[in-house]
Amino acid sequence: MRRQLVWFRQDLRTRDHRALTAAMRDGQAFGVYILDDESPSGHRIGGAQRWWLHHSLTALRRDLADLGVPLILRRGSSAEELERLASEIGATSVHAHLHYEPWWQSAETEAVKRLNMVLHGGNLLAKPSSILNGSGERYRVFTPWFRKLCEHMPPPLPLPRPEPIASPEQAVASDDLDSWGLLPHSPDWSGGFDVWTPGERGARAALRAFLPILADYEEVRNFPSQTGTSRLSPHIHFGEISPATLWHHAEATAGAKARSFLSEIAWREHGLNLVDQFPRYALTNGRALFDRFPWRTGPDAEADFRAWARGQTGFPVVDAGMRELWQTGWMHNRVRMITASFLVKHLLIDWRRGERWFWDCLLDADLGANAMNWQYVAGSGVDAPVFSRMMAPLVQSPKFDMADYIRRFVPEIAHLRDDEIHAPHGKGVTPPSYPLPIISHEMARARAMAAWAECRGE
Ligand SMILES: Cc1cc2nc3c(=O)[nH]c(=O)nc-3n(C[C@H](O)[C@H](O)[C@H](O)COP(=O)(O)OP(=O)(O)OC[C@H]3O[C@@H](n4cnc5c(N)ncnc54)[C@H](O)[C@@H]3O)c2cc1C
Repeated sequence: MRRQLVWFRQDLRTRDHRALTAAMRDGQAFGVYILDDESPSGHRIGGAQRWWLHHSLTALRRDLADLGVPLILRRGSSAEELERLASEIGATSVHAHLHYEPWWQSAETEAVKRLNMVLHGGNLLAKPSSILNGSGERYRVFTPWFRKLCEHMPPPLPLPRPEPIASPEQAVASDDLDSWGLLPHSPDWSGGFDVWTPGERGARAALRAFLPILADYEEVRNFPSQTGTSRLSPHIHFGEISPATLWHHAEATAGAKARSFLSEIAWREHGLNLVDQFPRYALTNGRALFDRFPWRTGPDAEADFRAWARGQTGFPVVDAGMRELWQTGWMHNRVRMITASFLVKHLLIDWRRGERWFWDCLLDADLGANAMNWQYVAGSGVDAPVFSRMMAPLVQSPKFDMADYIRRFVPEIAHLRDDEIHAPHGKGVTPPSYPLPIISHEMARARAMAAWAECRGE
């Protein structure tokens, strides 16, 4: 029987998996996951994602075993390990989904030189290079890109889970998952992650929980005190559920009312569209003008960065967001925008510092989505950005009814009334345990506008 290898990366699922389905159709399939910290270099997966990966691989190994497919774990450079393993098992082909992070693209190119690679689409709604404007060029701005993407939608119907086959008799050496040390210890800071269930079944359960509230998504998605969004982002990032599956379920459930949710799914793909065009998008400004931006550095800026990262800025909504991130590995989108804007514009700290912090702390850290959103908030991106638009945390907080959200993550001020909790300072109600604001909004605004003028040479 012909032997096939399936290379899993950010597609840790069994349903709607074109590579797995094709490999199982073609013979005896073996799955492999390679922990490759070499290829991504500075963007090796962060601490929070290592926790997720451990549990997601545990779930995948079980799900694949039910199909008669062993999951082999290896560590090292992707192309080298693939070549070694393919020769060990005598695989005729290696099946994989196309990925768009620059290190995955390089690894695919290298693997193609060494092996009979079969690269499949299907991990995204559409190949980024297939969405072109009338002149045959790539888009940089979301709205026209999304309009064009919709001309290609709906995506193909998701593939079912393949039928089980007999497990191979050949035993193949695999690393022990525990030996990878993906879980934190001394200290174990993952206690707050128990709200998550990594793996394909967890992804499906999250989708089932979300579909009944999907029709209200547009109205409630900006209110972090309520459960108004899907919380699917880590599942989507790790490919535990395919975007095509989400598209079809959402449309079947809510029809036209699914549009706003589907556009968010598309925002993630737009991030990959940008990274595919600008592979250094997480490292360099989209607009060269920003290379001259006078970001703050030095001890005072470092102290401010630490206060931001630890949720000790004295701005309740910012602190709630940063503590939610630390405790749960996730943060509500509206609060991500507020905290990111605060770092970049109130504290004048380079957006790349924030991108790095999020990269390490987010369970859903995604090269495209993270870089695109940070550059968008900073105003340095290629997609119609504006630096002078500065979010006012003390206005955003009551506007989006964040009192209960703040109570959950900033217990020092949980006893305050709704009309006090958003901006407690100066009202004689703040307990000594809660820090004073590290800067005033007015002063921060004046400083940011002066820096922006300096950057433009005014
Ligand atoms: C500074 C900053 C950094 C971010 N970094 C990431 C990141 O590393 N990874 C990530 O997945 N999202 C990132 N986002 C986008 C967004 O905050 C999260 O995707 C969203 O909060 C996830 O929650 P959800 O699954 O409930 O989303 P829902 O509102 O239910 O949306 C469904 C899905 O659409 C995608 N999505 C939603 N909003 C966005 C968006 N603005 N940009 C890109 N994709 C989106 C996600 O895959 C999400 O799971 C970032 C946003 C900001 C402002």
